[in-house]
Amino acid sequence: MVKDLQKYAAERGIKYFMVSYTDLFGGQRAKLVPAQAINDMAVDGAGFAGFATWLDLTPAHPDMMAVPDASSVIQLPWKKEVAWLASNCVMEGAPVAQAPRNVLRKLVDEAAKEGLRVKTGVEPEFFLLTPEGDKIADPYDNAEKPCYDQQAMMRQYDVIAEVCDYMLELGWEAYQNDHEDATGQYEMNWKYDDALQTADKHSFFKFMMKSVAEKHGLRCTFMPKPFKGLTGSGCHAHISVWSLDGSENAFADSSKELGLSDRGRTFLGGIMKHASALAAICNPTVNSYKRINAPRTSSGATWAPNTVTWTGNNRTHMVRVPGPGRFELRLPDGAANPYLLQAIIIAAGLDGIRSKADPGKRHDIDMYTQGHTITDAPKLPLNLLDALREYDKDSTLKAMMGEEFSAAYMKLKHKEWDSFVSHFSRWEHDNTLDI
Ligand code: ADP
Ligand code: MG
Ligand code: MG
Ligand code: MG
Ligand code: MG
Repeated sequence: MVKDLQKYAAERGIKYFMVSYTDLFGGQRAKLVPAQAINDMAVDGAGFAGFATWLDLTPAHPDMMAVPDASSVIQLPWKKEVAWLASNCVMEGAPVAQAPRNVLRKLVDEAAKEGLRVKTGVEPEFFLLTPEGDKIADPYDNAEKPCYDQQAMMRQYDVIAEVCDYMLELGWEAYQNDHEDATGQYEMNWKYDDALQTADKHSFFKFMMKSVAEKHGLRCTFMPKPFKGLTGSGCHAHISVWSLDGSENAFADSSKELGLSDRGRTFLGGIMKHASALAAICNPTVNSYKRINAPRTSSGATWAPNTVTWTGNNRTHMVRVPGPGRFELRLPDGAANPYLLQAIIIAAGLDGIRSKADPGKRHDIDMYTQGHTITDAPKLPLNLLDALREYDKDSTLKAMMGEEFSAAYMKLKHKEWDSFVSHFSRWEHDNTLDI
């Protein structure tokens, strides 16, 4: 664990530290601090005008300090003279309650109080586009079923392999890369970790992927549904809960249904119970709702859920249990804030454990063709406004995420929705002009 950042810089030839925090909309904000000055900021942090980012602060608020977490430091593999530091937001000596990394840290502590250690892995999907962002970068990538396309994958080898090499160098235990189900779409996988570490890695992965793509003259996007008719970008989360020392997977019990222990089952029950509200965080943009509940894509399937259901090893449901001792939440998309995503999983799961929530009956059907036969499961929200309203109604989840966070998030996201609906669209003109 790194303690003295100035010494760390001297040993590694680091000239600048990027003191970085994540705001409520998932934006990463940073100051570049010369290594000579870093020890002065290690305790008190680097100063920011919080209002200038999405944190629901006013211009009159005192300086917000981003206090670096030295244990999160990563030397940029593509620019070795710079190192990134995930930071915690503090104002006048107290944590800024609504700042996403603080929300997550609080929930990690809550879980620890009950002897639980949540470990998760995320699978961020992304598209490689031309720099303008309107076209798939590889003009030859146009198959009807492009998933795992070996030839197309190799045409983007330089970008994918460069990032995978970096993950290996960083010790993330990267293990596979593939061309995904949409043309121009890819996924890279590394090993699961504690929720806070996964959130830091997820954030850094997005930064790294975009930076390396830009270096190669491309644009990388995690937008949930950048192209109509093509499969969207999910960010599935695989979840398990361990004993505090990490030695025992508390979700594993081979004597139980699908190898999921009673605790795993009630955690899953919490996810099912709060699913509609979860969408406000897992699917946080207007565009997110073009990925879930979507019509069939040109490849034949959206691979995204439409209803609150769970199953065994079957990818057409919101939750899949791929094997014993863990489950996969397929709801989140590429726009999910890495910290809030982990936080909401823990919040819903903890409530599930505390309230002994029952996930209900599992359905082993193809949801894309037989979904209409299920009448007892809620549909996922159809748009961002519905999701925000579901979140607002869920007082337990709101309290677990923190009242200050929930109020700030609701306020900013409702404003975003208002901005969307007040935008005059071509569709309105085309469909209303001759009314
Ligand atoms: P798939 O595409 O089949 O859903 P991937 O291999 O792309 O799966 O991603 C699986 C993710 O789940 C990886 O991040 C992996 O490390 C993680 N994972 C595997 N086992 C566990 C576990 N017990 N707890 C949490 N995450 C896990
Ligand atoms: Mg200034
Ligand atoms: Mg995957
Ligand atoms: Mg995938
Ligand atoms: Mg998956």
